[in-house]
Parts: sequence; structure tokens; C-alpha cells
Amino acid sequence: MATDLLIVGAGFAGLCLLERARRMGWNTVLLEAADGVGGTWYHNRYPGARVDIQSLEYSFGFSEALQQEWQWSERYSAQPELLRYANHIADRFGLRDAIELNTRVDGAVFDEEQACWHVRSTDGRSWTTRFLAMATGPLSTPNRPSFKGLDRFAGPVLHTADWPREPVDFRDKHVAVIGTGSSGVQAIPILAREAQALTVFQRTPAYAVPARNGPLDPVFEQRVKADYPGFRARNRRMRVGFGAEYPPNREKAVEVDEARRQQMFEERWRYGGFSFLAAFSDVLTDPVANEMAAEFLRGKIREIVRDPRTAELLSPRHTVGCKRLCVDTGYYETFNRPNVELVDVGTQPIDEIVERGVVTGGRTYPCDVLVLATGFDAMTGTLTRLDVRGRGGRTIAQAWQDGPVNYLGLMVAGFPNLFNLVGPGSTSAFTTMTVAIEQHVDWIADCIAYLAEHGKRTIEPTPQAQTQWVQTVNEAADETLFLTCNSWYLGANVPGKPRVFMPYAAGFPTYAKQCADVAADGYRGCVLA
Ligand code: NAP
Repeated sequence: MATDLLIVGAGFAGLCLLERARRMGWNTVLLEAADGVGGTWYHNRYPGARVDIQSLEYSFGFSEALQQEWQWSERYSAQPELLRYANHIADRFGLRDAIELNTRVDGAVFDEEQACWHVRSTDGRSWTTRFLAMATGPLSTPNRPSFKGLDRFAGPVLHTADWPREPVDFRDKHVAVIGTGSSGVQAIPILAREAQALTVFQRTPAYAVPARNGPLDPVFEQRVKADYPGFRARNRRMRVGFGAEYPPNREKAVEVDEARRQQMFEERWRYGGFSFLAAFSDVLTDPVANEMAAEFLRGKIREIVRDPRTAELLSPRHTVGCKRLCVDTGYYETFNRPNVELVDVGTQPIDEIVERGVVTGGRTYPCDVLVLATGFDAMTGTLTRLDVRGRGGRTIAQAWQDGPVNYLGLMVAGFPNLFNLVGPGSTSAFTTMTVAIEQHVDWIADCIAYLAEHGKRTIEPTPQAQTQWVQTVNEAADETLFLTCNSWYLGANVPGKPRVFMPYAAGFPTYAKQCADVAADGYRGCVLA
């Protein structure tokens, strides 16, 4: 029997869409490759994994009962609590009977005559569905660099995004970590405490701002819960979908005196997290203001790290915020420990991995366990690896060979009735994920309902509307400083990937209005048939 909707992925986006589909009364199935729900929070079990947006903001608002009953224990929840939250959603809303676990989708073909999708899994099963929603996540395919000799390494090789379920015992072990992005920055302080010795291989130093994590303040929680809808609405008006409690400072760093500048940076540093980037309104747009923020952070590194050579090596030179800012707990302090060594592989890349070590700059650094904190083939990597064929048998990988193209980030020309959630061309990771997901779920649900009401079977964007949207996304990026460094936003972390700025940088309110306007205009830019 054909389903109305088939969802791929049981992470936060898939669960949220499934809950909505249930309320709409659609016959829906959700396929998930893993043996549990939770997506990101299922796979990223590395020590120290926790959210970098405050829990009260990184949570769903679609159910008042859910947001009232759920109790976060910390300001920034750790991975086990986020995984419990995903499981709670699956149980509380009775979603499990629509979810097929251990089911890895490997392809889907659009049937032009019947106007439906035939979806198949690696174990040979197949499904037919009217609508197909890819809730496969923007950060879900681990990036595993092909280091020479990696397969010869004698000990365990662990990727942060594919971490074992069983606890890993690092006692008496010499651990090597490659990568100092958000994952590495969270894992390194814990690994340093647990392991006998830790060697960190750093290609590009990271800017990190303290999370100031701690137990959730019950007074703040009560205040939020007294008017959760208002709290959500205020956050949806923010560019990033969060932070309304501590709004951006409207002053410009370049227009105030040095004392005021230091005072504001210091205030945000003390408050913690991403609020630092909102210390002044020009930090992310004016290179001079950005350098002032950068120098403040480098000053903090020099204050914290006792060895001047290590402090210098840890000090980034690129634009602050151009790679995602890391939110840490004790990251720089870790390099004061006697059992931690920092190795620069920015000037001298890793030559090879040998049976018991990592070789760079003519020296072998011994290790028993290798941790790859090397990130993801972000935003496109999961979809382009699937054999998803639209009209004329064209695959997503072919359509996106020069970088992702789509309309509103949601639909691709030539792939009717296929929706992509929180991927390229939408604000995605530039917004707190739960806000981005709920907006996509609302839009998709309204769109499917509209088609039914108007007796239409399919929707797809026109190539012209798509081209225009890609241009809109590029123009938004051109107005920022995001193009000035090698980040996963640009695909620059994966050798050979087209260098295209993938998320939409115009801010959540602008994006949400553009999506709403398209819907209000009867899905302007789309062919409904
Ligand atoms: P990432 O930011 O892409 O960092 C990967 C690190 O590995 C970088 O330091 C990179 O160096 C290094 N690397 C990659 N290939 C290498 C190679 N061949 N040799 C040496 N070093 C190499 O990945 P991530 O840390 O997993 O984070 C990705 C995103 O996931 C984050 O930006 C964030 O959006 C999300 N995330 C969030 C949290 C959180 O706090 N909630 C935690 C983890 C992840 P280069 O910088 O030189 O490329």
C-alpha cells in the first residue's frame, strides 16, 4: 500500500515531522538506519558531547504539554539527556509504530506516470509513497580523511560522530585526537582527564568561548515556563532563532572607545556561548570590528595558557565566526596539563599513520587510540550518497555536482514531492535547529494540505525559481565575512567538494517570511499538477 508520506531519518527533524503527519491524519512511515531514534544525539556519543545552544531554546515548542512537562537538568544539556528527550517524544506522541529501525534507505525513484516515489532499503525492502521527506540531517555523514596508513593502525580508531555505545576506557592509554572543531573542543578536556597522555593534532586553531554550563536555574526555568509561547515567539524574531533573553548589542565596535569595547566583550565572555558574537552589531560584518573581537579572544588564550608557544599555536588568525564558534568547558585550560601536547599540522600536514602512532614533520607521535574529530561531509554528503532519482532518472548527486541547488532550501527542480529538511539553501545550522525544524515542518505540512485541498498530486519548483533562489543565497553570503575561511559551510573541509556557501545567511525571520510569502502566493515559483 502506498503511504501518503515517507520520512527518512528519526532525528529531531524526522520525529517532529512524523508527529505533525500523525496529527494531520496522514498514513506515514519513517525509516531509520540506526537501531534507535535521536539522529545526531544517537550517533555523537563522544565524551563531552552537549548542545551549544541553551536547552530551553534548543527544544520543541509544538506541544505546550511537552514543553511544560520536560525538565532539562543543565543550562546546556549533555548528549544522554538529549537522546532521552528524542525517545520521550517518540513515546509520548505514540510514534514508534510508524518507525522502522535498522532500515537504511539506499535509493528512491520518482515514478512519473503514477506521481509517486518508490523507496528501497539496503535489505531489499521497498515502499511506495506520495511524498518523500529527507530528514537526514545537515551533519550526519562523518568526514573520514584518507590518511595514508590509517588501516594499519593497531588500536581503535574512533570518529566522534560514530562513537561506540559501550564506554571506552582511556585509562593507561595514550590518545591522539585529530581535529579541533566543536567536537574536538568538547572531547579534548574530558579525554585529557581520562587518558594517561593526550596528543592533539591541530590544523586550524579554534575560537572557543566558555559555555558557563551548570544546573538549570530554576527561577529562569519557571519564568520561561510561565510564558513559553511568548519566549518562543521572541526567539523566532531573532536572526538566529535564539538569544532573545540577552539580545544583541546594537552599538558598533568601531564606534565606541576602547574601555566600552573591552567592557562589552568581557560581559559576553562572562555570560558565555554564542552571545559573544552579539557583543557589537558589526562583529560579523566589518573586518575591523571582527579583528577587535578576535584580538579579545586571543588575549584570553594568552591569559589562560601558561606556555607562550602553545598559546600562540592555539591562537586563531581567521575571522571570528567564519567557522562556527566553539562553546567549550575548560578547552584552553587543558593545554596547561602536563599530560597534553599540542601538535601543529597546519604547516606540516599529517604524513601518515603507522601501527602505533601519527607521523608529521619527520616525527612519530606514539598513541594507542586514535580519535578522529574531523567533522562531516556537511549539508550535501548524506543526500548525494543516496541513489535518489527524479525526473528522467537524474540523481541528486548529478543535480548538485557543482554544489547544492534548490528552492527555499526545501525542494529541488526535477524532484517532485521531495522535501529536504534543514539542509543547504535554508538557514539550517545558522538557526537553533529546533526552530529551523519546526518552521520546515509547518511549511511542508501546509504545502501537502494545500495540494490535497486543491486536487493537485505534485509540486516542484521551476528551474527559474530555483536559479533565483540560489542567487539569493549567494548574495546573502556575499554580505557576510563567512567566505573568508575554509569551513564546512563552504564544503572546504572535504577534498574535492565544490566550494559553495551552503546555508542561507539572511537570518531566520527573513527566511521564514520568504517561505510564508511563497505559500501565501499559491506556491509561487512552483508547478502544481
Ligand atoms: P569541524 O568543525 O568540521 O572540525 C573538524 C576538525 O577536523 C577541524 O579542526 C579540521 O581542521 C580538522 N580536520 C579535518 N580534516 C583534517 C585533516 N585531514 N587533517 C587534520 N585535521 C583535519 O567538525 P566538528 O567539530 O565535528 O563540528 C561540525 C559542526 O557540528 C559544528 O560546526 C557544529 O555545527 C556541530 N557540532 C556542534 C556541537 C555542539 O557544541 N553542540 C558539537 C559538535 C559539533 P580545519 O579547521 O583546518 O578544516
